[in-house]
Amino acid sequence: MPGVSIRGLHKRYGDVAAVDGLDLDVKPGELVALLGPSGCGKTTTLRVVAGFLSPDRGEVWVGDRCLSSPATVIPPERRRMGMIFQSYALWPHMTVAQNVAYGLRFNGVPRAEREGKVTEMLRVVQLAGYEQRYPGELSGGQQQRVAVARALVVEPEILLLDEPLSNLDASLREEMRFEIRRLHETFGITTLYVTHDQSEAMVISDRVAVLDQGRVAQIGTAEELFERPRTRFVAEFIGKTNLIEGTAERSDTFVRGPLRLRVFDANLTPGPVVLSIRPHQIALGPASLAPPSSAGENVLRATVLRASYLGDAVDYQVQLDGGDLVLRVAGPITRRFRPGDAVVLTVLQCSAVRL
Ligand code: ADP
Ligand code: MG
Repeated sequence: MPGVSIRGLHKRYGDVAAVDGLDLDVKPGELVALLGPSGCGKTTTLRVVAGFLSPDRGEVWVGDRCLSSPATVIPPERRRMGMIFQSYALWPHMTVAQNVAYGLRFNGVPRAEREGKVTEMLRVVQLAGYEQRYPGELSGGQQQRVAVARALVVEPEILLLDEPLSNLDASLREEMRFEIRRLHETFGITTLYVTHDQSEAMVISDRVAVLDQGRVAQIGTAEELFERPRTRFVAEFIGKTNLIEGTAERSDTFVRGPLRLRVFDANLTPGPVVLSIRPHQIALGPASLAPPSSAGENVLRATVLRASYLGDAVDYQVQLDGGDLVLRVAGPITRRFRPGDAVVLTVLQCSAVRL
């Protein structure tokens, strides 16, 4: 099974640089999510990989075959890729079985073998018994499963999905995430999965590539991106964060006025730096528990400005004593503080980000 390698990809529409120097390696059998806000170039990238668009610059490789370059574009039907779009694109005049069998017919697979494969694939996507229905007689989730079956039945080398769940209602969308992950674990097809939904990307993929203005800002596991974002864009796009501008005094020490923080497992370059501290990376306790001022590392005194009960956590705004800095802190619901309460914060983890 091959992987996919996108190298130095550029694609413009008039003045708009839709894809602007994108590099990405998907390992054989890996599912990588392309995650980013609307307009960041996800669909354009996928269409170049599929062979519907030619690159202005750069190349797309599958294993040791170069499929796209400015000079040559292998057409979509010769790429051994399966595709699933937001709109499903099922043929309304064909039954479920005919829709799923379409690619097999196109490839000249004999009838008996075709029927066997369609039956088996409909069983896998839990649509056994729906062979003779028409798409108009199915729910959105069932239509989605037909689109998945149709893409998988031809045994593609590469699977490309563009926001395939965005037409489903919220609870079905959640359910289908697990379904897509299950199918990936069953078939292990190298997959590029486009979405603007961060939790969808985190649940479904092995790694997430965050796109910012036509290029990959950072690629990593969900945990790596969340705990150690490398750019301000990634820190703000994936979850909430506190960003603090200051100076790196040493490779592990951040300073901003009276505030000093040890930055763990970082290798800061002395000079201006921006720190990202997630609300849950700060522990909150009553001021009465504060250690003597010199004793605690990363222990800060603060006052609660606002407390919002969220059901599974409390979202606090706290102001650091002796400064104007306001931080968001996620606290447990078991120990509650009110506006005006004096508290101590312990910064458990933080990371330096590029602007
Ligand atoms: P995404 O899928 O991440 O929302 P797209 O790849 O669709 O982003 O679009 C990237 C940028 O290219 C956007 O600014 C979009 O408006 C522009 N764009 C996309 N398709 C076309 C097109 N056919 N003609 C002109 N501009 C386009
Ligand atoms: Mg898109």
